[in-house]
Amino acid sequence: MILLLKNLVELDQKHFIHPTSSIQQQQQEGPAFIFEKGDGIYLTDTKGDTYIDAMSALWNVNIGHGRTELAEVAKDQMENLAFSSAFSTFSHEPAILLAEKIASIAPDSLNAVFFTSGGSESNDTSFKLARHYWKVKGEPKRRKIISRKKAYHGVAAASTSATGIPQFWDMAGTFTPDFVHAETPYEKSTAEAIDSMRQVIEQEGPETIAAFIAEPVQGAGGVIIPPNDYFQEIRKLCDEYDILFIADEIITGFGRTGEMFGVENWEVEPDLMTFAKGVTSGYLPFGGVIVSDEIHETLKEKSTGTLFHGFTYSGHPTASAVALKNIEIIENEKLRENARHMGERLLKGFQRIKADANIVGEVRTLGLLGAIELVKDPATNERFPADWKVAANAIQALYDQGVICRPVTFDSTDIICFAPPLIINEAQVDTLVARVHDAVLAVEKEIG
Ligand code: PMP
Repeated sequence: MILLLKNLVELDQKHFIHPTSSIQQQQQEGPAFIFEKGDGIYLTDTKGDTYIDAMSALWNVNIGHGRTELAEVAKDQMENLAFSSAFSTFSHEPAILLAEKIASIAPDSLNAVFFTSGGSESNDTSFKLARHYWKVKGEPKRRKIISRKKAYHGVAAASTSATGIPQFWDMAGTFTPDFVHAETPYEKSTAEAIDSMRQVIEQEGPETIAAFIAEPVQGAGGVIIPPNDYFQEIRKLCDEYDILFIADEIITGFGRTGEMFGVENWEVEPDLMTFAKGVTSGYLPFGGVIVSDEIHETLKEKSTGTLFHGFTYSGHPTASAVALKNIEIIENEKLRENARHMGERLLKGFQRIKADANIVGEVRTLGLLGAIELVKDPATNERFPADWKVAANAIQALYDQGVICRPVTFDSTDIICFAPPLIINEAQVDTLVARVHDAVLAVEKEIG
């Protein structure tokens, strides 16, 4: 067993370039975990240690690990028709039924779906569809996409540029033209964020702007939950300038925030909605873009000839069948409602941790998306010096307690993010809170 593990570590270092990773750290230390089993909210590694997966892996395993129902659906579909194309005039039942299902659970005016293999492809697709829409409507100059600072929209060419975390642009030294970034409402009021948007629109020229994209709750930027009036104001601003509003629901979709889609928390309807992750709970790679009736009608009327955009796996039959079953589970088990209730319980737990510790700033949740900010002085919100690596230490302390979480340290923050599976129950939330409590106090003690 030990030999086997050593072998796996060596093979990993030699052959496996990990996504969003430090290649040098990998060469020095090898992988921190090699997981081999998932069950409910838990992950077990090759050493036999079991952890609470408080991130649903990558914010995506909404129905929890190890659901055999999805495996059975995948097996049946693979045996019947594992793959066939959806290009051009080809179609198949799983993608048709899934498109209909997604239209039925999306906000009222969004009823047509383009499928992709993941989140980045979905966002790139949404930008191209928005530009195509303006082009066929006779406004080809509308090409620019406005996104926000601290946004994460993926790593394909266009979605990297929409991402508002500069480290992602620097990696290859490129930045695609026609992307601009406005302020996000993190530590800012709605009015300040909207003013910044308006300035960007005016500066760039409203007649050059195709769309605005935003995550209802910014995930990788640090679980940033906007003020209650923010998205209503965004919708008004987009309408004022005739700018399409794209909601990036890749994390927030499929029950995560206590609503089926994140924007529904503020009763706002976007023009396009991108999704991935929770649509299959990560059991197979999948994603897509839902468009408004207005966009669909315009394309039906004016988009003559071929729509030159399509991925081999657009509407993948097996992934579609798995997505349908996954959505059925989310609905039947009332996981959206559970996310709301468990999120409220998690917040109360975070508040108790804040009361007991001297290094906890803001704590927040919306459904089962949550964050704890670690700060030097909770009264003034003064942050720790970056070289103290407080968030990294907290993550290690959490590992020691058997909890997998994720740090956000951009702009010298020390934020611990939480996104447990939507099936988590009260006792499991309480255990999670107790472990986080002990980890935070251990970090506080270490800092002195
Ligand atoms: N948008 C958001 C909000 C995301 O969180 C992510 C992935 N973390 C993406 C887009 C990109 O999705 P993918 O990694 O599937 O390409």
